[in-house]
Amino acid sequence: MDDVRSISRRALLFGRAAPVPASVVFRPPWARPEAEFTRACTRCDACVRQCPQQVLVRGADGLPRFDATAGECTFCGECVAACDSDAFAPSLDPPWTLMAQAADRCLSARGVVCASCRDVCPASAIHVPPAARGAAIVDAERCTGCGACVGTCPVDAITLQHVPATEAIA
Ligand code: SF4
Ligand code: SF4
Ligand code: SF4
Repeated sequence: MDDVRSISRRALLFGRAAPVPASVVFRPPWARPEAEFTRACTRCDACVRQCPQQVLVRGADGLPRFDATAGECTFCGECVAACDSDAFAPSLDPPWTLMAQAADRCLSARGVVCASCRDVCPASAIHVPPAARGAAIVDAERCTGCGACVGTCPVDAITLQHVPATEAIA
């Protein structure tokens, strides 16, 4: 059976889902929906301090954010374990609805051989056409939104976006 992520990701691929603008703030994995998260989080920084990958940062509002340019979320769950509030929902599966997308400025779309993103992807979710014949393509079914590819791209062609389930299924 399809889960929300697979339905919504396919919808994104076929143009039925409106991606959230890149400026949107990403919360840690397993974070509750934004309104609930901001209400429950005590801004104690425990998750930020605990993250072994150092991909969580404290925002200007005091709330934790996921910064994919800093590295990869390994979904170790240490941020959730460190939190004493009700800001996380550990039963969320998948832990978030992020996925990667490569923009047209991808070097491989401009005749330059590059596959850095593909080489670091732990989910084998990226296909780069041979001989630089097109931009990197992210397999929406495999991508976990971990962010490993984001900071690796030499031209910042990869961004993460939420795939909103409600808009996707409509
Ligand atoms: S799951 Fe682990 S790597 Fe990912 S944000 Fe939480 S502590 Fe960091
Ligand atoms: S976000 Fe992670 S899983 Fe998705 S394509 Fe990038 S490296 Fe692969
Ligand atoms: S790392 Fe960047 S430039 Fe290289 S193939 Fe991937 S998206 Fe394209």
